[in-house]
Amino acid sequence: MPRLFLLLLLVAVLALTGFGLNMSGSPGELAAQSPKSLTWYKGNLHTHSHWSDGDDYLENIALWYRDQGYEFLVFTDHNVLADSEKWVVVEKTKGGQKAYEKLQANFPDWIDERTVDVQLQIRLRKFDEVVAKLDVPDSFLLIQGEEISDSFHRHPIHMNVSNVQELVVPRHGDSVFETMQNNVDAVVSQRKLTGQPMIIHLNHPNFGYAVSAEDIMKLQGEKFFEVYNGHPGVHNTGDETHASTERIWDIVLSQRLGRLDLPLMYGLAVDDGHNYHSIPSRASEPGRGWVMVQAASLTPKSLIESLESGQFYASSGVTLASFGHTEKEMSVEVQPEPGETYTIEFIGTDRDTPLDGEPILNDDGEPLAVTHRYSPKIGRVLQTTEGTSATYEFQGTELYVRAKVTSSADHNNPSEIGDKKSAWVQPVTIPAR
Ligand SMILES: [Zn+2]
Ligand SMILES: [Zn+2]
Repeated sequence: MPRLFLLLLLVAVLALTGFGLNMSGSPGELAAQSPKSLTWYKGNLHTHSHWSDGDDYLENIALWYRDQGYEFLVFTDHNVLADSEKWVVVEKTKGGQKAYEKLQANFPDWIDERTVDVQLQIRLRKFDEVVAKLDVPDSFLLIQGEEISDSFHRHPIHMNVSNVQELVVPRHGDSVFETMQNNVDAVVSQRKLTGQPMIIHLNHPNFGYAVSAEDIMKLQGEKFFEVYNGHPGVHNTGDETHASTERIWDIVLSQRLGRLDLPLMYGLAVDDGHNYHSIPSRASEPGRGWVMVQAASLTPKSLIESLESGQFYASSGVTLASFGHTEKEMSVEVQPEPGETYTIEFIGTDRDTPLDGEPILNDDGEPLAVTHRYSPKIGRVLQTTEGTSATYEFQGTELYVRAKVTSSADHNNPSEIGDKKSAWVQPVTIPAR
């Protein structure tokens, strides 16, 4: 009996100190630490419809996402909320006859139509109507959003607001940075005034190569940007002159933490869906990128709380069984798919890395308005593991550490040639030792 008691005591002490966890280093055990009450929710934060330049009706789009196993979806049409009476001529919509036939098949008794001057018109459903029809408590949630579509000179500056209450009219500004900051401030102030939780994120920084790392790094009150956007025209991977969105992320994180005394910025994966009638194709179809959020419940408030605390990962095809970190280490465990192998990279920047950048010059020696060149040690790979689980032990010399998982398999419906299925675990700051 005393021996059993001692054994139980030892187990209890190990469990309490977390010693067992660190000894085993098993991510499965690490995951067991996270509160049992949290549930995984899959969602897309970037969606277009007939309310702006998408080619389908809100209700068809919502049904598609629900059928595909998503738990939440944010409608983000350009500079408009689906809250007014709006009629469209079927033949003049982007979706035309195809979208109308889909509507007839999906909602035969729920189409508001009329004929004016021998043209068939449809009344676009308002957000609230679609919610009443398609929301399912605890299993599918629609969220009102907007793509605030602003610009500075010829630079498109698009920012999504999720769970917005009132339309945000683009605020403009005297620079790329100021344009973004003014729109962020508008959302922060609406949140304060209404008390409704809402988040703004920067969309596709490389669309039109409009936004550089130097513009993003100074933003205040903004915690998210799209590291992966499924639209084929947004240059996630950059080119010879332009940094990739992942490179931008590491530069921004290093500057914010190492120099500007600003908080982390998190990376999202989104669809930016516009084209819903031919999947796969080379257009901007749904299903390419999403976030997996661990939240207490399927409500905007709860999802936003988890997003803001980094309790999520972004994915373009890889599912994680768990991820997490303690003060000492970060762990990732993949939920493997048959026939796929995985590379897990831990990425970060050391505190002593030089943070100065150099502008990139054109042929005449003038600086280009693109992300500067920085030390390759910014966002260096700290550890690579081939397999389905990995743990990285913090050295105490890193400003931050994040993780990326890349599958051996191609993306199911790549937006850029060569895309592999991937997942991005959010960065954490490392206390100096
Ligand atoms: Zn956009
Ligand atoms: Zn968009």
